[in-house]
Amino acid sequence: MFGGTFNPIHNGHIQLALCSAKQLHLDKVLLIPTHTPPHKQYQEEITAWQRWEMCRLAVRGYENLEASDIEIKRPGASYTVDTLRELKQEFPDTQLYLITGADMFLTVQNWRCAADIFSMAVVCGVPRDQENEKILEKQEEVLHRDFGAKTVLLEMPLVPISSTEIRERIKNGQPIGQWVPKSVERYIRENHLYQKS
Ligand code: ATP
Ligand code: MG
Repeated sequence: MFGGTFNPIHNGHIQLALCSAKQLHLDKVLLIPTHTPPHKQYQEEITAWQRWEMCRLAVRGYENLEASDIEIKRPGASYTVDTLRELKQEFPDTQLYLITGADMFLTVQNWRCAADIFSMAVVCGVPRDQENEKILEKQEEVLHRDFGAKTVLLEMPLVPISSTEIRERIKNGQPIGQWVPKSVERYIRENHLYQKS
C-alpha cells in the first residue's frame, strides 16, 4: 500500500511506486489517496475524487500500479491502520508492505495503532533528499529495537519535488511538465486546479 494526499500526484510518487514494485517483487502497488489526511489541514477547491482521478491517469500503462479508492470511500479521517485491516481481510494470505517516503517513514511509530500496523505490514522507506539517508538508517534501528517492526530501506534516485512545490509553481505560472505525467498536467490545466492563491 502506498498512501498519500497526492495533491497532485507527481513523478516522485510514480518513481517510488515503481522502485518498490521492482525491488520488493510486488505483484501490485496500490496508490491510495487519503479521504481526509489526519495530519494535514487543507481546505481547497479540489475533491478527493479529483486527486484519485489524477492517480488513475498517472498509473495508466503501468501494469502493476493501481489507483485505489479504498480510503476515499470510507468517511472521515483516513488512518493507515484501518486501510491495512481492510486489505488484510481482502487479501488474507498476502504479505503487505507499507511504502513511505522519508518524512513519513520517520514518524510511523506515532501513527494510530502503530503496533498493529507493524504486525500487518513491512514498512518500506526511501530518502527524499541527501540528508535523509543516514537518519533513515537510525530510524530503522529504532523501529526494529523498540517496536519489533519489519522494515526495508529502498534504493531510489532522488526526485527533488513535492506536491506543495507543484501547487506553488502553478500559482506562479511556472511550468510543471518536468514533474508530473503528461496526462496529469492536462487534467490540472483542463480543470483549472491550484490556480487560486
Ligand atoms: P505535500 O507537499 O502536499 O505534502 P508530497 O509531495 O509530500 O505532498 P504526499 O502525498 O504528502 O506528497 O506524499 C505521499 C507519500 O509519497 C509520502 O510517503 C511521501 O514521503 C512520499 N513522497 C512524496 N514525494 C516524494 C519524492 N519526491 N520522493 C520520494 N517519496 C516521496
Ligand atoms: Mg507530504
